Amino acid sequence: MAAPRRILLVEDEPSLVLTLSDRLRAEGYEVEVAEDGEAGLAAAVGGSFDAVVLDVMLPKKNGFDVCRDLRQRGVAVPVLMLTARGQVVDKVVGLKLGADDYLTKPFDMLELLARLEALLRRGRRAGAGGPERYVFGDVEVDLRHEEVRRDGRPVELSALEMRLLAYFLTHPGEVLSRDRLLDEVWGYDATPVTRTVDVHVAGLRQKLEPRPSHPRYILTVRGRGYKFAGS
Ligand code: CA
Repeated sequence: MAAPRRILLVEDEPSLVLTLSDRLRAEGYEVEVAEDGEAGLAAAVGGSFDAVVLDVMLPKKNGFDVCRDLRQRGVAVPVLMLTARGQVVDKVVGLKLGADDYLTKPFDMLELLARLEALLRRGRRAGAGGPERYVFGDVEVDLRHEEVRRDGRPVELSALEMRLLAYFLTHPGEVLSRDRLLDEVWGYDATPVTRTVDVHVAGLRQKLEPRPSHPRYILTVRGRGYKFAGS
């Protein structure tokens, strides 16, 4: 059997700590708890965790600052952030600071488990040791820092576009069905609409292809899905 996966839970609300850690342990995870931001940061930097569940509103140091400091120290552990209902601005800020996914309180436990599982799957692949820099055409991608440049100039991608591009880059020449992309990139079944994939592919082409209507890199494979033909 594989070693149990280690989760760091950074949360100050005792009842939520209890519910979450009980449930996570019941699912076979090893759980460590930190009850304020400073303790959370120290634990995340010092321990080898497979994922961090990070509340935003925390004593001593808020979740955004914890996340930013983690990334600045080069800690690439997947982070799932928890925030209060309706903090849409926070979501954008959080993703910019390096959170990998977001969940709004109050959340459904099954939803949290599904998101966590998806993060862990992505984390394992990211840790699998492929190259982190890719070049195709006039586009340069640094997957580790999630930076994309075209002709030397920075290109802004949404978090989902970045993940989709990363998946294409790490699976060159493979025909990728929309279902597979939904499963692997979106990671859970919140939006079981294959059209979603088309919309995001179109967004990537618009930003990265010399002629988006006649793509050279992110190709359509009629009736089957997409294929990345670069690098
Ligand atoms: Ca809190």
